[in-house]
Amino acid sequence: MNPQVKQQASLAVSPLDNDLLVTLLASSREAVIITDEKNRIIEANPAFEKLTDFSRSDLLGKDPRFFASGAYGRGVYTEALSQLEQGNPWEGKITLRKKGGELFPFVLSIQRSAHQGALFNLCFFRTQSDLSSTWDEVYEMAYYDQLTGLSNRAFFIEQLSQALHLCQRTGKKLALLRLDIDHFQKINDSLDYQVGDQVLAQISQILKRVLRKSDLIGRVGSDEFVLGLFNIEKPKYAAEVAEKILAEFRHPIQLENQTVYVGVSLGVSLYPEDGEKAEDLFKASSQALAYVKKTDRGHFYFHAPGQTQKAMDQIFLEGDLRKALKNEELSYVYQPQVDSQSGEILGFEALIRWHHPSRGAVSPVEFIPLAEESDLIIEIGAYTLSRVVTQVKAWQVAGYKKVPVSVNISSKQFSHPEFLDTIQFVLAHCGLEPQYLKLEITEGSLMGQIDQAIETLHRLKALGLSTSIDDFGTGYSSLSYLQRLPIQELKIDRSFIIDICKNHNIANAVINLAKSMNLKVVAEGVEEKCQSDRLKALDCTCIQGFFFSRPLSVGDMAQYLQRPVNRG
Ligand code: C2E
Ligand code: MG
Ligand code: MG
Repeated sequence: MNPQVKQQASLAVSPLDNDLLVTLLASSREAVIITDEKNRIIEANPAFEKLTDFSRSDLLGKDPRFFASGAYGRGVYTEALSQLEQGNPWEGKITLRKKGGELFPFVLSIQRSAHQGALFNLCFFRTQSDLSSTWDEVYEMAYYDQLTGLSNRAFFIEQLSQALHLCQRTGKKLALLRLDIDHFQKINDSLDYQVGDQVLAQISQILKRVLRKSDLIGRVGSDEFVLGLFNIEKPKYAAEVAEKILAEFRHPIQLENQTVYVGVSLGVSLYPEDGEKAEDLFKASSQALAYVKKTDRGHFYFHAPGQTQKAMDQIFLEGDLRKALKNEELSYVYQPQVDSQSGEILGFEALIRWHHPSRGAVSPVEFIPLAEESDLIIEIGAYTLSRVVTQVKAWQVAGYKKVPVSVNISSKQFSHPEFLDTIQFVLAHCGLEPQYLKLEITEGSLMGQIDQAIETLHRLKALGLSTSIDDFGTGYSSLSYLQRLPIQELKIDRSFIIDICKNHNIANAVINLAKSMNLKVVAEGVEEKCQSDRLKALDCTCIQGFFFSRPLSVGDMAQYLQRPVNRG
């Protein structure tokens, strides 16, 4: 035991009378407080008042923790308490908050003493001899989280506020990401709190790895981290960082003796969209976090309501779509088109699929229009043609039944100056005869620049390809133009098939129109027997839809091509 503590111990047991004790305390240059069994201050000497600027009346009846800085965490108190309960004195470093809020490092020695049947704690405060290193420590503890070494909440807010001032001057954007560990309590409960600590330390390492040096990371709650992305050019960057972080957590975390999977969710707020002050951004990010935790754990969500979120999703999807092309995340399924009378396969439509690494399947209805907004559709279109034509040729070479494949062509792709060259190149490269490739084009693609479209259709026809108007009836084709189009097929849109059993007027009109123009007609979206029967009765020969077959994988399609006739 150090000599001072020894001295305190002997003081505690000596039979001093009350007056003498008070005089001793009053004249002592050492700062002392005495607390009772409930840890309320019952005495504070003038040296303590001088040291902390609190008056005796400020202090009496209070729990000493009210002037503790909190910098050393709860562990210090727990340890001190346990030592005292075992009858041992305790000594350790602490930081106190003076009345003006200033932090000050001390060495605190506590001795528990029994007096007239009651227990008291005698607390002696002294400044440290080596103050410079202690000040460093105080600084560390006041501003940084002890477990992870990251900025604590108060310091983070201070840094964030400074960064916001800078943003206001420079006009730059800033994003605040709030990260919460999914079910952290379970990790703590089922494993051990030490394992929980290791997880938190590892998470801080992951975050440091993913973020730029100039970004800021803080730990603001037991299982909550905040990330400040400064000087971002576009909100898109925040989405990319959030996605990078989520990707990191798809791998297990390596701890000392085990690996654990940890899920995280993120809420994102943006300056200036969600607020100009640090508190506003904190609030907005925690609202976004609460939302994502309730609806879509393991993902990130922007605070921005509806529209912005959607715009952000799109920006983010567009970036990922570029990667999807490189990473071969795009694949194709094939949906048979069959003869309504015989069930014989007459052709099949290639439909693109995207398996996003974290979002899973993304529908073409969502990503094709996005790709169309940028030039990405040109690349995707060429890639699709090449993949599909290669596959069809492979089936033919393997001896499967030869029927044409229909490939959807987007408007931008169709009007692109290199479109015809691409088609010719792909066919020549794969060695597929042109009659086995049919192009599905929507009415909208044709009606924009009709003369140019007619020219392209003529050239396609000259090359030996056929073209089909997809989703026919949903656009604004003028019948006079339709007459001028060198096309071979109309596809009746699914919306006219849905109610065909009740009302077949439009389907009937389209079938008759096609016949009168010498065009083939395909009904799409046929799901029920009744619809198929009605189309048969209306003499629509070619049918496509779930009733006959859902879109099939490459393997299933190969089997389908081998099947004997007479299905449906
Ligand atoms: P679409 O060309 O009209 O394709 C038909 C869509 O209807 C496909 O949806 C298909 O899976 C779905 N379908 C087929 N039978 C039924 C049925 O019985 N009931 C219902 N409810 N739906 C049925 P998918 O694959 O989601 O494609 C949607 C759209 O995305 C396509 O409409 C097409 O416009 C576009 N798309 C798909 N693949 C490509 C592609 O490779 N390139 C381009 N540019 N667009 C594509
Ligand atoms: Mg289609
Ligand atoms: Mg269609």
